[in-house]
Amino acid sequence: MSTIIYPTSNLKTGETLSIARGEGVYVYDDQGNKYLEGMAGLWCTSLGYNHPELIEAATQQLHNLSYSHMFGGKTHQVGKDLAEKIRSMVPVDDAHIFFGNSGSDANDTQIKLLRYYFNAIGKPEKRKIIARKRSYHGITVASACLTGLEVNHTNFDLPVEALGIIRTDAPYYLREKLAGESEAQFVDRIVGNLEKQIIAEGPETIAAFIAEPITGASGVIIPPAGYYEKVQALLTKYDIFFWADEVITGFGRTGNDFGCTTMGIKPDMMSLAKQLSSAYLPISAAVVKGGIYQAMIEPSNQLGVFGHGYTYSGHPVACAVSLKTLEIYQRDEIFARAASNGEYLQAGLQQFADHPLVGEVRGRGLIAAVDLHNRASDEAFPATVPYRLQQACQDHGLILRAVGGTAIAFCPPLIISREQIDELLGKFARALDDTLQWATQQGLI
Ligand code: PMP
Repeated sequence: MSTIIYPTSNLKTGETLSIARGEGVYVYDDQGNKYLEGMAGLWCTSLGYNHPELIEAATQQLHNLSYSHMFGGKTHQVGKDLAEKIRSMVPVDDAHIFFGNSGSDANDTQIKLLRYYFNAIGKPEKRKIIARKRSYHGITVASACLTGLEVNHTNFDLPVEALGIIRTDAPYYLREKLAGESEAQFVDRIVGNLEKQIIAEGPETIAAFIAEPITGASGVIIPPAGYYEKVQALLTKYDIFFWADEVITGFGRTGNDFGCTTMGIKPDMMSLAKQLSSAYLPISAAVVKGGIYQAMIEPSNQLGVFGHGYTYSGHPVACAVSLKTLEIYQRDEIFARAASNGEYLQAGLQQFADHPLVGEVRGRGLIAAVDLHNRASDEAFPATVPYRLQQACQDHGLILRAVGGTAIAFCPPLIISREQIDELLGKFARALDDTLQWATQQGLI
């Protein structure tokens, strides 16, 4: 029994781990046990815990102006400074920014911005959104409809049909390929399917294609070479926006500033959260290119007030912390450091590629997955195996996360050092061997 209804949890087991404090890349439970935070919380604590400058930025802003809103044209300097800073960093042309509080609400906002925009230009029928299977875009009613995971739909009567979500293939070669299919054939097949779907629905009814450049929460899925190039060409051909969900991949995570840079994507819209503030306070940004914004303010459009906004849109304390986070990224060259240490992590993870429990090791920068696979039967293990591995890691003082039913994810804070990466790899090696021993005893291998 618990007073708290825990998010994304098995409510029936009631298992908890009470985290009491954090320092750098480590957290400590209420018994004093130390853990290396190999997941940066939920893919977000990029600068680690207890960072004095972020604490100072929040404290100063709390003294100066603890709250102000942005409705009806009210504004404040720290919000304007943050918007300019984001605009200067993102690969979106003439970027304009709407502030929210979470990745989910940024994605909800994008749906509204799309509708408002297409209404403004007199194309109200262009409103459907293509989203992929196995994607994660959030959990509010609308963003959960974009998400392509059964667990987020079943028992909640989702998706809402009226939202007009078109579901297309996940670029997950290991699990979605047909027998004997090469990577290039796989790409051609799923991009071919996408084009058939666009034609069947009618391109004049489709507003955008949403994708995480590298899919995070459902398995750290990295599309094969050529996939995005072909998708982007299709979207250009049929006049459909590329909407990049960079909630995980934004800000240095994948070895470059944004996942779009790593994967060669030119986005029209971008959703940001998590590392935007190193998770010190909740804040998100829905970013759209200038053309979308210009149509919204065009005097000749027939639309009235833009009736969308949150009480905490542009919360000044969250803005101050976010601005300081982005300044630290630039001043301390955090992305370059993460790219170099990312190569070190990826090289280190290759030692597990031939382990009897492992089917594939993949990653970019400081995000990676070890995908478990029964080589003898050429099938995935039951989901109990990655969960067992997650628990074994925790027993060795390492927090990692089972994702996608078959894999275990790595996403340490961007400030992790090479010495700490060695520590992470050592703990993981021991946990993997413990799990192999258990799986052998269970007759799973
Ligand atoms: N998009 C992506 C790609 C995410 O990974 C997440 C969260 N894991 C979200 C959106 C939703 O963000 P939030 O949990 O802040 O609502």
